[in-house]
Amino acid sequence: MFSVDETLHSSRQKTADLVPSRYALSIGEIDALVVSDGVLPLPASTMATNADPADLANWLKRMYMPPDKFDWPLNVMVARSGAQTILIDAGLGGQFAGFPRAGQFPQRLDAAGIDLESVTDVILTHMHMDHVGGLLVPGVKERLRPDVRIHVARAEVEFWISPDFSHTVMPNPVPEVLRATATSFYNEYRDQLRIFETSHEVAPGVTVRLTGGHTPGHSVVDLVSGGERLMFAGDAMFPVGFDHPDWQNGFEHDPEEATRVRIGLFQELVKTGGLLTAAHLPFPSVGRVALDGDVYRWVPVIWDF
Ligand SMILES: [Zn+2]
Repeated sequence: MFSVDETLHSSRQKTADLVPSRYALSIGEIDALVVSDGVLPLPASTMATNADPADLANWLKRMYMPPDKFDWPLNVMVARSGAQTILIDAGLGGQFAGFPRAGQFPQRLDAAGIDLESVTDVILTHMHMDHVGGLLVPGVKERLRPDVRIHVARAEVEFWISPDFSHTVMPNPVPEVLRATATSFYNEYRDQLRIFETSHEVAPGVTVRLTGGHTPGHSVVDLVSGGERLMFAGDAMFPVGFDHPDWQNGFEHDPEEATRVRIGLFQELVKTGGLLTAAHLPFPSVGRVALDGDVYRWVPVIWDF
């Protein structure tokens, strides 16, 4: 289990951080830690671009949510397997002024006692700004080891050379910022990239695999050890996806393929009974998926304090 450096537990931090931003668990021999990067307030319509607005309004009402804005949680994960420390996604960083409550990953990693210097590998589920932006925060690259390996699918790197936004529904200026951030990330880290085709075992029991859908190179990460398993599913599913897996998200570059991927992963999770964590499910975003008639049900774990 991750241990916290006592020197980081100053009374100042205790009072400044009343809401926890990290949740640790073990998957067999693998230590895993979910860290919150904050939340992204987005127009509610972006999570159901093909739904009847009345159906979306009903869903939001049933969830006790306001009708127009929906806070997307934003989670990253750290895994330790053998001698490797693996960061899975990196949060928003300072890439978008419209999301001032996100981008907290560097200081929250510090608060969790994880040194950037100890990270041997970074896995990116995809290159949207809320997943790579943290790597562009001033000082982060300088603290990462020069030989850090950043694993990303070939299809993702190639997509961002000339990205297609024609099937997306995003508020402005999000597409331009996504494009600029992916380009900055590539230019900054091209020498560290370890590009994989369809899957790659990054460390014992830690495997990234291509799913496509959300973006052409979107990938999920499986942690498997000692008969236990957890999938970090990136942006394959959002909170609304359990009740309405066919509702398309405005950030999906191929919404029909993204729906097939989402349903396929839900079915897989129902079958395996493995744990699910996803970038935009409510923190700490650790639970299982049950089949409930035609829809899916999120079954959160009981916190193990
Ligand atoms: Zn995202």
